[in-house]
Amino acid sequence: MDVALATAWLRAVAESVDADADELTKLDSAIGDGDHGVNLRRGFTAVAALLDGTAFTSVGDVFVRAGGTLISKVGGASGPLYGSAFRAVGKALPPGPAVTPADLVTALRAGLDAVSALGGAVPGDKTIVDAYRPAVMAFGEAVAGGAALPEAAAGAARAAGDGARATVSLTARKGRASYLGERSAGHQDPGATSTWLIFQALADVTAP
Ligand code: ADP
Ligand code: MG
Ligand code: MG
Repeated sequence: MDVALATAWLRAVAESVDADADELTKLDSAIGDGDHGVNLRRGFTAVAALLDGTAFTSVGDVFVRAGGTLISKVGGASGPLYGSAFRAVGKALPPGPAVTPADLVTALRAGLDAVSALGGAVPGDKTIVDAYRPAVMAFGEAVAGGAALPEAAAGAARAAGDGARATVSLTARKGRASYLGERSAGHQDPGATSTWLIFQALADVTAP
């Protein structure tokens, strides 16, 4: 992955979040406060503006700066969580204009660790973790098996989608949805759904 691809990924996330903002907000209306789509649209619009105005020489810097933008622009829980994840991804990457799929495996794991450390969620709590963790695992397994980035990204997107859909039956134990207790079951988690969009965007921009 080079700077151009990292930038293209985040722009694709911004487009996808914008296109699906209503759907994300609808999911959040069912079990939260109905602002997830608006939150992420605001955040990734600011990320796209950052990318427009900055010349990057390091892939890691793209993610560190994008993460900082999400933290400062998104008020909801998802801003600090995604912001910390992207910052951790960026910081875990070696400096320079291009990184390998193996570097990305390490970095995506660091992103997952950051989300877990900040939010305290474990698998099954009906959160971002339920899509992010299977995506990172699929990505890591694919790369370990010799897959190139497009194939690894496609596998990660599929795993994130499966993880997000599997949140429907779960009872939320973190975030606003946990206030509903068992009434949160029967609805797909908004954050797990946006994590799926993020990995799908990587699959889309790397697809041959
Ligand atoms: P808010 O809940 O502050 O309105 P958003 O609506 O933007 O923030 O984001 C809600 C999403 O954040 C949830 O669907 C869930 O996936 C995720 N989330 C909330 N708390 C946590 C947590 N502690 N760990 C991981 N993800 C979380
Ligand atoms: Mg919300
Ligand atoms: Mg909110």
